Amino acid sequence: MRLMTIAIYRLCIPFTRPFRHARCHRHASDAVIVRLEDRDGVRGYGEGLARPYVTGEGVSAMIRFINTRLAPALFELDFDVHDDPFEWVQQIGAKRAAGRCTQTGVVAWHAAHCAVELALLDWALRRTDRALTDYLPPARTHVTYSGVISADSPEDAASLARRFVTFGITRLKVKIGTEGDEARLQAIRNVVGPSCELRADANGAWTAEQAVRQLARLEPYRLTGIEQPVAAGDIAGMCRVKRESGIPVAADESLVTRDHALNLARRQACDLFNIRISKCGGIARSLDIAAIARTYGIGMQVGAQVGETALLSAAGRHLAASLPEVAYVEGSFGTRLLSEDIAEDNPAFGFGGEAPVLPGIGLGVTVDERALDRFAVQTIVLNR
Ligand SMILES: [Mg+2]
Repeated sequence: MRLMTIAIYRLCIPFTRPFRHARCHRHASDAVIVRLEDRDGVRGYGEGLARPYVTGEGVSAMIRFINTRLAPALFELDFDVHDDPFEWVQQIGAKRAAGRCTQTGVVAWHAAHCAVELALLDWALRRTDRALTDYLPPARTHVTYSGVISADSPEDAASLARRFVTFGITRLKVKIGTEGDEARLQAIRNVVGPSCELRADANGAWTAEQAVRQLARLEPYRLTGIEQPVAAGDIAGMCRVKRESGIPVAADESLVTRDHALNLARRQACDLFNIRISKCGGIARSLDIAAIARTYGIGMQVGAQVGETALLSAAGRHLAASLPEVAYVEGSFGTRLLSEDIAEDNPAFGFGGEAPVLPGIGLGVTVDERALDRFAVQTIVLNR
């Protein structure tokens, strides 16, 4: 079975409220959706979000990479739809490696690869009426999401924290590493009370020296973890913060590839991996990184990119549900952040941050093509 058409959609979906952290300020989702179609009209959809300060991919470069590298590899392959679709994913990965496209500053083409991987999985599973849960058996029936608070003013941050707690969510991650960290955390702690679990993400804003000093200053707010306190490449700095701050350290921007995971693990640079599917290059690569975490006794968080649509929300749900060891899960904000989502189903978490495993065929969500057309600012259609 060969693929006949590949469509690439560059979306712009306005947020219901802006989202800020130390590296970026966003008003809209810039998700890229890939749609694969075979000769019988069976379609599969995938998604990736390019983050230049994480994988080095910009949105335009990501789309170009799919268009010129991954799409030709997909058109070349003749798929046996009864095979394990994860094996095809590896074949595409092998082809990609053989024709490596280098660009200065790109760590890995993971957002591009993720969009294609998810589309391929979705298409293959739909082609044979299978669900992703057949390949990634869930270890639980529900996934429990944390709330995430952007680097807002203390008043706005406290207001959002109150809404999360009222909604039964008692694990919150707060963006810090900007002006006013202390006032923001104080305002949040005041409204959520002593029992709510607060962790923080500095998005690489500090040097190790600054991180240790700032975390000591923030000690009254009882943070249970600090994510990416120092720049992505500063592994010695991660080790120092872990050693000197007394707060568990999570690697996020430092963790893009399997080699990064191994290096972080061997150097004992962190206590937790933040595994984000788009950042890590798809579900198969994320599972590889989870296996390294398991081997080295490192905790796992299944994270998300800000602005993920239903497709990556679904993929994250499957991954998080399948990992018994997962400590925290983020994402699945759906229309709590997006003005509109692109699926007929609503994958957003409910009360308490809870959301069920998605047992439907493919990735478990049904894309609304009209929403894709409505929010696409660029569409590329490639025919075999
Ligand atoms: Mg992070």
